[in-house]
Parts: sequence; C-alpha cells; structure tokens
Amino acid sequence: YPGKSKSNKSMPSLDSVKVAVRVRPFSQREKDAGSRCVISMNSGSTSIYDPKNPSHVKTFTFDLAYWSHSGFEKDKDGTLVSAGSNSRYSGQSEVFRDLGQGVLDSAWQGYNATLLAYGQTGSGKSYSMIGYGANRGIIPVVCEELFEVIQNQEKNKQHQVTFSMLEIYNEQVIDLLSKAKKPGGLKVREDQQQGFYVDGLKLVPCDSYAQIERLMEQGTKIRTTASTSMNATSSRSHMVITIQFKQIFLEEDLTKQSIINLVDLAGSERQKSSGSEGDRLREGTRVNLSLTTLGNVISALADVAMGKKVIHIPYRDSVLTKLLQSALGGNSRTIMIAAVSPADICYEETLSTLRYAERYLHIVFMSCKICNNCISLCMLSLSLSLLPEELRCLLAENELRIQTIQVTWEYQLEEARKEWEQQYAAITQERRMMATFPYLVNINEDPQLSGVLKYFIQDGSCDVGQSSSNAITLRGLGILDKHAAFTNIGGKVAITPWDKCKVIVNGVPIAVKTKLQHLDRIILGSNNAYLFIGLPAEHTNEDLTRYDYDFVHSELAAAEGFSVDKLGTAKSKDGKPDPSVLAVFHDYIKLMPLVAEANQMSEELKKDLRLELKVKNLASSDSRGYDLQKEVIVKVTHNVTNQVWVWSKAKFTNRKFLMEELYQRFLDGEDVHIDQDNDPFWDPVEVIHLGSAHIWLQSLAYCMKLEEQTDLLNSDGKEEAIILINIVPCSSNGRTFGEEDMIIDPLELLGKRIDFQIHILQCLGVKWLKEVSERGIQIGYRVYDLPRSLYTKPVWKNMNPKMEETVQFSALSASHEFLTYLQKNALIVDLWGLQGSDTDNQISELYQKLLKLEEETELLRDINRALREENVLLKDTLKKCEIRNHEKTGQMCNYRTSCDAEFAKALKAFYQNMNMVRGQFLKLKHYRPPEDNLKLLRLYTERQSHMLKDFGEQLDSSICKLKNDVALIVKKKRESLANKP
Ligand code: ADP
Ligand code: MG
Repeated sequence: YPGKSKSNKSMPSLDSVKVAVRVRPFSQREKDAGSRCVISMNSGSTSIYDPKNPSHVKTFTFDLAYWSHSGFEKDKDGTLVSAGSNSRYSGQSEVFRDLGQGVLDSAWQGYNATLLAYGQTGSGKSYSMIGYGANRGIIPVVCEELFEVIQNQEKNKQHQVTFSMLEIYNEQVIDLLSKAKKPGGLKVREDQQQGFYVDGLKLVPCDSYAQIERLMEQGTKIRTTASTSMNATSSRSHMVITIQFKQIFLEEDLTKQSIINLVDLAGSERQKSSGSEGDRLREGTRVNLSLTTLGNVISALADVAMGKKVIHIPYRDSVLTKLLQSALGGNSRTIMIAAVSPADICYEETLSTLRYAERYLHIVFMSCKICNNCISLCMLSLSLSLLPEELRCLLAENELRIQTIQVTWEYQLEEARKEWEQQYAAITQERRMMATFPYLVNINEDPQLSGVLKYFIQDGSCDVGQSSSNAITLRGLGILDKHAAFTNIGGKVAITPWDKCKVIVNGVPIAVKTKLQHLDRIILGSNNAYLFIGLPAEHTNEDLTRYDYDFVHSELAAAEGFSVDKLGTAKSKDGKPDPSVLAVFHDYIKLMPLVAEANQMSEELKKDLRLELKVKNLASSDSRGYDLQKEVIVKVTHNVTNQVWVWSKAKFTNRKFLMEELYQRFLDGEDVHIDQDNDPFWDPVEVIHLGSAHIWLQSLAYCMKLEEQTDLLNSDGKEEAIILINIVPCSSNGRTFGEEDMIIDPLELLGKRIDFQIHILQCLGVKWLKEVSERGIQIGYRVYDLPRSLYTKPVWKNMNPKMEETVQFSALSASHEFLTYLQKNALIVDLWGLQGSDTDNQISELYQKLLKLEEETELLRDINRALREENVLLKDTLKKCEIRNHEKTGQMCNYRTSCDAEFAKALKAFYQNMNMVRGQFLKLKHYRPPEDNLKLLRLYTERQSHMLKDFGEQLDSSICKLKNDVALIVKKKRESLANKP
C-alpha cells in the first residue's frame, strides 16, 4: 500500500462506524451577542451544559473529538493554525490526518468509504468537508493526495478516477455537473449488481487534481444558481460527491475498485421544526424525508447491533438512504462528523446533534461484510479449473478487453479534458473582467455559496432583470423582468430602480438613481443580496467575508428600527443580555428575509395574504409582573377579508416550505389551483389574542373595593382598548362591602371566608373593531388556581361594547398562600378578538338578533314592572273611588284584571317561542361539519343554511308576535284610560 500515513491514529479499527465531533469558533453574530460556550472537551469525552441550568451537564464519548473553538491564529496565507504549544486547537490538517487519511487508505486497499457530515445549519459541516479559502476541507485534500500518490506510481498499473457531484433537494436528484436542468430531477434506479444508482448522472473521468478543483467550482456555481432561481435553500439539500477509484494491475490482471461517498448533509435543525406542532398541514415533514429516513435507518442498524430483532431497515424510504444503502449496510468504512456550534443559544440543537451522533456509535459491522473489491480473472479461471488451452484463450480475450477499456478511458479522459480547457478559458476571462470592470457578487444565506456568481457592469448603461433580454440576467424571487438599470460612467456606478421595483442599498429602500460605493450592499426583489465591488483602484485589503448574509440582514433590521435593545433590557447577572432575548433577536433577523419571500410568493400567486414578523410578549408580563418569554411570531392578514392569523415560527417554517413547493410548480407553468385543505396560504378563522391588562388585587386583601379603568395593552405594550372593571368584596349572599368593612391587616382574613365579585362593565375604543367593524371581542380571565379561564359573552360589531358581567368568587377558608396571591399578584384580563368566517358571520348575525331580543325582553320586563306599579297606584285610586261610586268601579276592576291576564298570556307565548329558538340555536351551534368528505360537506352546508333560515324566521315571528301583542294591550289600555270617567 503506497499511501503515506502520518499517524497511526487513522482508522483505529475496521469494523465499526467511527464518529467524530467538532466544535467551531464563535461566529461574528455569536460574538456580538456575547454568547457563552457550552461545550467542553476532555480526553476523549465531550460535555455540554444547559445554559438555563448550568449544573446540568451531559457527557458523550465519541471516537474522536476536535476542539476547533479556540487557541488558534491565522497564518500569513489565512490558514487557521494552533497558537502556541499548549493550544488544544485542531485545524483542518488534524481532521484530515485522522479522517481523510483513513478514507484514502481505504481507497488504495480497495474498500469503499463513506464520510457524512451532520449538524445544524452553520455548525461547520461544509467547513470540514469542503472548507473555505486556504482552509481546505477533507474532500479537496483527499482528491489532491490521491493524485499525488498516483503520479508516483509504477507504470505497470493504471488508475482511473471518476468524479460526480449531485444534490438531493426535496427528494429530487440534481446533477451539479450538468448545466441542463431536468424537470423533476434524475431518477434513482436499482440494478441487481450495482444496487441503487442515479440514472444519467454525469461521471467525469479525471487525471489531475486541478480538474477536480474546477469541477467542484462548477458544481457550486450550478448549486448557487439553482438555489436562487428555484428559491431553494441550500441548507435543506444534501450534497453528495462520489469518487470512483479503480486500480488496474496490468500484469497481475487484477482490478481493485473503491467508491468514496462524501456527503454534506442538510441542516439537521429542520427535523424538529418540520414537526411543526399543531399545524393543519404537516406534510412539511417531506422537507427532510432523506434526513429523517437516515435517522431511522441508523436507529434500526443500531438495534440490530444491540441484538434486537429488526425486521425491516427502511433504506428504500428516501433517495439518500437508497444511494447510501450499501455504505450504511456495512459494505463501506463509514465515518460521521458531527459538527456543532459552541454557543449557548444553540444548546438545544447541539444537544440533539450529539444525541444523534451517539446512535451511530452503536452500529458495529461485522468486518467480513466490508469486502475488498478485488477482481482477478486468473484467480477466477483457476478456481474454475480450466484447461491450459482454454486459459490461454481467456487470457488473450482478457488482454483485448483491457486494451479496449484503456482506449475508451483515454478517449473519455480526452473529452473531459477538452471541456475542462473551455472552462479554464472562461475562468481566465472572468479574472480579466474583474480587473477591468466594477461588478456585483452574490451574497447567499449559505456562506459556501456566497461570492460564487459575478455580474460585470460594463461602460455605459445596462439593465438587470429576469428576462434574458437584459444585459445582466438575474433570477430570483421578486425580481421583475426589467428590474433596475446600472450606469457606469468612467467607473462611477449608479443604480436606478424601474417603476416600483424593490431595490435596497445598505439597508435603505431607494426609488431614484443612487450612486454606488465600493462594498455597498444591494438587495433586489424580496431577498437577493449582492455586494458591489468597485474598480480595482478602489479596492482595499478589507476582508470581504465580513459582508455576509447576516451583515446584510442585520443592517436591514437596524434600518427598520429593530435591535436587541428594543427587545427589552432584561440582563442576567453577568450583565450580558438574556440569552432568550438574543435568541429572539436572531430568529427575527433570520426570519425577516423569509417573510419577505413569503409575501412575494403570496403576491405572485394572488393569495392576498400579508405576513408580518412580530415579537410575542415584547412588553407583556405574568401575573407577578415578570417578563414573559418572548418569541417570534408571524402575523398573517388577509387583504380582502381582513381575517387575521398568528403563526408560530415552526408553523411559518413549515408553511414556507409548502409555499415554495407550490411556487416552484407555478414557475414551471403547472396548474397551481389547490383546494383549501391543502393550501399553505389558507387556514380556518381563529381567535386572536389582542392584549391584556393587569388588575392588581392588593386592595382585596384589605376588603377594599377596586374600581379600575385601565389599558388593555397588546404584546408590544401599545393600547388596544380600555377596560372598565370593578372588583368588589362582598358577603356570602352578595351584599357588597362598604368603607366600614375595610380591615387593617390582611392576616385578619386568615382562615375566614372571603367573597368578592368581579364585575366587567365595558370596553372602550377597541382597536380591533376600529379597524374592521364586523368583528367581535370576548374577555377572558383566570382567578387564582381555578382550572379554567372564564370568558364573558362575545360581543360583536361594537367599538365600545358593554359586557355587564358579574361573577362572584368565594374562598371558603383563606390560606396564607391565597392572601399572598392577593397581595402580590394581578388578575390578568385578556382581550380576545373574534372574527367571522362566512357561516360564522351568519351565526353571529343571528346571535346579534338574539341579543337584541334579550334587550327587548328586558325592556318589556321594565314596561311590565312599570305597568304593575301603575296598577298599584290605580288600585289605590280605585279604592278611593269605590267609596264614592260602587257600581262603576266594579266594571273597571274587571277590565284591569283582564288586561294583566292578557299581558301574562302574551309573555308566556313569547317565552315558549324563545325556548324553541334557543333549542334551535344550540343545535346550530353544535352542528359540526363532516371531516374531509366533500359530498357530505355540501349536504351539510345545505342543511345548515336551511336550519339558519328556519331559525331566523322563528326568531322574527316570535318578536313580531310579541310586539303586536304588547301593542294591542297598550292600545286597549290607553283606550280604557281615555274612557275613564
Ligand atoms: P454548515 O455547512 O454546517 O451550514 P459552514 O461549514 O458553512 O456550516 O460554517 C458556517 C460558518 O462557520 C462559516 O463561515 C465557516 O467559515 C465557519 N466555520 C465553521 N467551522 C469552522 C471551523 N472549524 N473553524 C473556523 N470557522 C469555521
Ligand atoms: Mg453547508
């Protein structure tokens, strides 16, 4: 074996999966945020502590652990190297020595090898696998070393290396070495001998490292273009590089073959968020079908290794596991690198990565399974015990075959070389342009894909946009056919947006011609960022990687007035901002561009939704006045119906993915009509939390009445409405206490019964209704340890709704705890916004009618009372009259009795009618639509509208009848009074 192993640490044992963990330095953002490092490594073991509970430490033992977090410096060509002799730092060369060298060793020995990088987005997977600048990762170094050794080999051996590079995005395979885009991607097929393979994938023969370098560059370019024009985030895709290495020993007539799979997996964080709690549309799990399935396969294999009986290993469930079947099944030496962030805010993700990696440790392959792929024809023929004549024949045949292979190989190599030369010329041309013209360079969310695409701004003026008629064609969400124009006059460049096109320069939207300076940041459309590079004379030595995606979006957020300080000043003991606040800040900046993209898709797909990023509980506190956990949410408003929804971050992430899928189909010219049930832009109406008020209960502890008129504040701390509420101590039978009942010391109440009434009178100036008058509200509150919140009746279409609800509470024997509650806590009164869907609107209209009816009944009761009082008065008069005129009074008395009786009769009829109406209403209220059956649903809707109609008619007729009856009675009465002598 000719490899030059520098260390005996490489591949310690043949027969198990090796797991390595690597922790990276803080990112700029983590540094700015004052993050703490939660990872520590000690002689082989890796520990992580919970930032919320620092004594809570978990320790893992992996085969290898790399501390790349600290103790390094940059050498003159930018390579990170260990600083000083007592630094524990592991750089790219240490990682290569242990892992890359092992891969090379396997290749030379004719074993297959697989290297997987796992971890959340930004944890350093690509850094380890591919690398950045001078810090080259495992893949390029493996390739380079491979060719270096090949060059020094004897002449009686032939070496064949082919290279392929593909991406799996949403279960579609994209060839990164082929410019022709196949709709739907390449197919994965199965072959008896080969197993699964990608049909039509370009396998490029290579005979030098320079060639591979170029191929990887080209692959990255295609990946970047696809990612922007398809609006597909690279963190969701898996990249697989496969190197097939064949050694042909011409004399021995022996072939050794090895397949090396190098896999940069999709960001692992999606696994959790794709579970998006409670979202109606959970198909988003497909986001990571390949990653989830990989996890399932690993679990099954670990179970097998632990002696559990496993019937089925789900290789066939996803594209990635199909392609890796033989590798995972044991026909390969497999190494996994778990990349982790050191920062406290990534604690959950990091822990989950370490747990995932731990599962790999359990997989142990039986060494006999890893087969050496050596094929010798002689050995084969001997074993078949052929005659010498036959053998000679076979040998000659074989020689011919080898010659053919060689010729074919040479031919293929030549073709690949020609293509390579063309590309080389293109790259030289690009270099020349960079020295002559100003240009734009792309800034991608994935640093690996940043700086890959360049657009030159030549002298004069040039248009940019989606259409290929422009001098610069830029594809991307929200970029229009003709989007903006650049002018370059003597190296001075300016940009002018076309009518209403979105152009942002250094965080500020522009509408008119704007001059550009070297290193200005430009966003075109919803989220396509570029860095402007001026003429070479303007170049400085500044590190351009500073202007990354984070930079651009932090700048944008700052220009829009969003900052950590805005999130509240809650600082923990060491003076650093609360990690949860920082996490929200990061979420906000991360989601900002995604929300802009979702809005753009909504617009283009004519979905009429407007999405806004908000921070939940920005200014809210709990019942003791402590800040509530903040969280990023997305407020969704329908432009036409004004319906509002609130989506959690997880739900938004899930929906965004489904939106992208739909949008991609739209771009492909497919029919994107989708029924409501599957529409990521649709949801049934929901109740919205608008705001809350704190009513401090202290005065109750002194038996003092509380009359509050206070603001209901929304989660930003802004006034949403004013609430009038009284809390009144009272006796057990409801007699309200006065000033004389006040006590001096709350302890006097200990062990005694306490009664109080909560009286919610009215809300004033409800913004929710000011915006849209069709809406309604409801008030909810929860007292002490009662298991449920209590709600007032819903009130619709009234900006200043009267509630007039009184509820009496009793504490039978006041405990210390209860008295403390009264003294230290507030009653939190929540304002809930109601909104109608179409059927709901009908019901709510009927509800309105019912309420009106109640009011009218109340009025009638008043009339009744008044009449009764009048009756008493009349009776008195009657008595007096009786003395004077016996005969006449007798008549009157009869008449009055009949009048009362008639009234009672009318009321009775009305109550009966109302009872029926109430029954109908309850029936309607509980009449639920059938689940997912369209036919039944139609029937349901028909029946419901019938019921609604009946209900309405019954209601109308009852009111009408009552009105007529009363009118008649009143009329009769008036007549009789008029006739009175
Ligand atoms: P991933 O591929 O997991 O999304 P990357 O490999 O692109 O993450 O890393 C994210 C950022 O962190 C990059 O800017 C990269 O340069 C930096 N980084 C990652 N690992 C290291 C490391 N070991 N040393 C220095 N920088 C690193
Ligand atoms: Mg990456």
